[in-house]
Amino acid sequence: MRCPKCEGSLKSLQVDGTEVDRCDACSGIWFDKRELVDVLPGAAAANLETGQDTEGHDQKRGKCPKDGTRLMRVNSARNHTVTLDTCRVCQGIWLDAGEFETLREASPTTPFIDLI
Ligand SMILES: [Zn+2]
Ligand SMILES: [Zn+2]
Repeated sequence: MRCPKCEGSLKSLQVDGTEVDRCDACSGIWFDKRELVDVLPGAAAANLETGQDTEGHDQKRGKCPKDGTRLMRVNSARNHTVTLDTCRVCQGIWLDAGEFETLREASPTTPFIDLI
């Protein structure tokens, strides 16, 4: 699959038994529907270090790597400084580099209510 934000390609990666897709160029990560919810609570995902966001990627609206739908930008309920890119068709979620760590470090008592 193609990265929604750059020309890189997505490579599958196992995180706690869940397969996610990470861009080999910008280190952003694609989660299929519910995968992010599955992965975040455990989050012993030391192998998911994604480093710094590539400048400008967070502001960029990409297309879903699965169905080409334009991704919607919504603020995470866990941490409002994080902007998630979500697909309204397949409900996948794209996190730019560094955003996974920010979400993981957000208070675990914050419930995963609606993302918006
Ligand atoms: Zn990329
Ligand atoms: Zn989609």
